[in-house]
Amino acid sequence: MTPVSSLASPAVAIGREQLLQAFDALLQPGRFTDYGPNGLQVEGKPVVCKIVSGVTASRALIEAAVAAQADAIFVHHGLFWRGQDGRVTGWMKQRLALLLAHDINLFAYHLPLDAHPVLGNNAQLGDVLGLRADSRFGEQDLGFLGGWADGREPPTARALANHLENRLQRPVVSVEGSQSAITKIAWCSGGAQGYFEAAIAAGAQAFITGEISEPQAHLARECGVSFLACGHHATERYGAPAAAAHVAAQLGLSHEFIDIDNPA
Ligand SMILES: [Zn+2]
Repeated sequence: MTPVSSLASPAVAIGREQLLQAFDALLQPGRFTDYGPNGLQVEGKPVVCKIVSGVTASRALIEAAVAAQADAIFVHHGLFWRGQDGRVTGWMKQRLALLLAHDINLFAYHLPLDAHPVLGNNAQLGDVLGLRADSRFGEQDLGFLGGWADGREPPTARALANHLENRLQRPVVSVEGSQSAITKIAWCSGGAQGYFEAAIAAGAQAFITGEISEPQAHLARECGVSFLACGHHATERYGAPAAAAHVAAQLGLSHEFIDIDNPA
């Protein structure tokens, strides 16, 4: 049966290398020092018609991509990380076996996907939250710093937390730094709690990220800068579909984003 999406506009077939070049040209992985390899992580079939994007190359996403008849998967969190146990056993064997059995290419872009000024996780999260970045901060310029895109009244920490819960549709862990209005908001998606001090140094009065660890609660109270942890997955689910849709449109490929819900 022909998938509905390809009825509207028939997908063309593109060589794997051409697809890799398009992702690389967009995301410029050579500019980053990363925790794992960016680009093609697992080689599949030489020709691609359909891309499935997702946040993490989990078994659930790979199974969904197989069901969606994808030729390539594009993710933020790939399979390979520095310092990882290199053995292909257990869950790693299962994920790889699925990819290889179905000849699916796995493309993964980590920090380059966080950083892209328009299509990246931080830029897209800013759009979802109604934030506009005026500048960047922190290691490799991954942090975004700005305020409301529409120039409305600066929020209190509590109002900002409510806004985040509404927009992201999930609970937010909020440690209030002060009750004053927040004019400078910093954000960095995912597990960026380590960027909190750089956000404080950059003049932020609130910092939005995915995760919080124990030290940040104290730092928030002691430095008067509010910390809002909105979930790693929830803050990183916008970049992969934006970048993959962009490249798919550029090359005439079919694309589908598959969100595998994750409470963390
Ligand atoms: Zn992440």
